[in-house]
Amino acid sequence: MSTLYVVATPIGNLSDISQRAKEVLSAVTTVAAEDTRVSRKLLNHIGVSPRLESLHEHTSPERLQALVKKLETGDMAVVSDAGTPGISDPGSALVAAAVEAGHDVIPLPGPSAIVSALSITGWTFERFLFLGFLPRKKNEQLTTLNNAAQEPGPVVAYESPHRIKATLENINQTFPVRQLVICRELTKFYEETFRGTAAEAIAHFDKQPKGEFVIVIQGAGKATNTELSDDEISKVLGNLKENGLSGRTLVERAVEITGAPKNRVYQLSLSKDLK
Ligand code: SAM
Repeated sequence: MSTLYVVATPIGNLSDISQRAKEVLSAVTTVAAEDTRVSRKLLNHIGVSPRLESLHEHTSPERLQALVKKLETGDMAVVSDAGTPGISDPGSALVAAAVEAGHDVIPLPGPSAIVSALSITGWTFERFLFLGFLPRKKNEQLTTLNNAAQEPGPVVAYESPHRIKATLENINQTFPVRQLVICRELTKFYEETFRGTAAEAIAHFDKQPKGEFVIVIQGAGKATNTELSDDEISKVLGNLKENGLSGRTLVERAVEITGAPKNRVYQLSLSKDLK
């Protein structure tokens, strides 16, 4: 039996490669990689040249079995383009196939954009909800965000530069009063951390921003709800109504989001002006 090493790699700064990752990538004969050209650069940087085999999200079952056959002949590593394999990245299917075939699977911990972003929020939490990449369609995205409204811990999402503005608009609809921490280009030259509300983030990222983003939304347990105005609560009610909620569900969800007393939310929900 062989060992499949699941190796986390840098999310931008090549110096973040671990000593152990270097040792394992030097020792194995084969590395399964999401994009062999991207991984070749990293391997060149650390001065090793194992055989590279491609492994992406559309890898066929036959190809996976061929990789498992190769694993029988010696230990193998799997890497993705950046960060930890299997986290919004390929890797899990090969892990499952290797486990099924009776091989050992060992993780080599290291960079991951989720954990890096959460680590600099400064918020105390016992849990978090990772949403990965949010659905692209507006309605589906709003539903996903609304479903996360009760999460007591931070809610984390990955986002690309060309969708960040639309996503922030939707977050502003769903979580108008929550604090956000938005990490752009972590570990890279243009690294930036934004802290504020969604409306402030929209103003901050007004020009088409470049780079990769992690959005962290403060959890329901931490929202500062005591000073919400009637207008703000009505806005939340209006957005929920627009998303098809009504009656008791509408009021309950608005209470979860705003933390305002149920009776006050109920009274505001009766307003004819509610859009
Ligand atoms: N497996 C990776 C991990 O462990 O973080 C995630 C891969 S996922 C395909 C890529 C997304 O992760 C990007 O679109 C972005 O949302 C986030 N990401 C990756 N690197 C980042 C960085 N340096 N700064 C900010 N976000 C990053």
